[in-house]
Amino acid sequence: MFFLYGLPLVVYNTAIMNEETPKNVCHHHHATCIEDALATAEKLCSERKQRFTPLRRRVLELVWQSHRPVGAYEILRQLTAEEGCPAPPTVYRALDFLLDQGFIHRINALNAFLGCTKAEEEHIGQMFICKKCKNATELSEPEINQSVKDAAEKQGFEVQEQWLEVVGVCKDCK
Ligand SMILES: [Zn+2]
Ligand SMILES: [Zn+2]
Repeated sequence: MFFLYGLPLVVYNTAIMNEETPKNVCHHHHATCIEDALATAEKLCSERKQRFTPLRRRVLELVWQSHRPVGAYEILRQLTAEEGCPAPPTVYRALDFLLDQGFIHRINALNAFLGCTKAEEEHIGQMFICKKCKNATELSEPEINQSVKDAAEKQGFEVQEQWLEVVGVCKDCK
């Protein structure tokens, strides 16, 4: 992963829980979200001297097709329908690249990937996953982040990935 876990924790959007709508429900023109995500990825790749190949770009676009997590199988299925469909390992490598760069997150509970809107910042946090609509909301609550860090330190445990997945039912599905 691209995140540096020993550094001070990134603090942002602590008020998100109080918002009227979940962060990942898109009430505006979704094409803008995709364009923004692609533009950010392109910019970061060039800054980091990484190649943003057409396949990496297309896979990122497919992850971003909705604000819902998308499974690798679904991405493969869509790519296969397109001309010049790439071999599955190539697609998995593209997903690994996007994960390493922090452009997407893996959600283990859903075995799926979610586009990140904060790819420019190193961050850790929590995923709130609705088991009914399969939406996932990304949060970064500083207190939770700190508690996990403290607990790990007490155990002498070196944290390498710090994402907590919380499964339940979202406000819209209750
Ligand atoms: Zn993120
Ligand atoms: Zn839901």
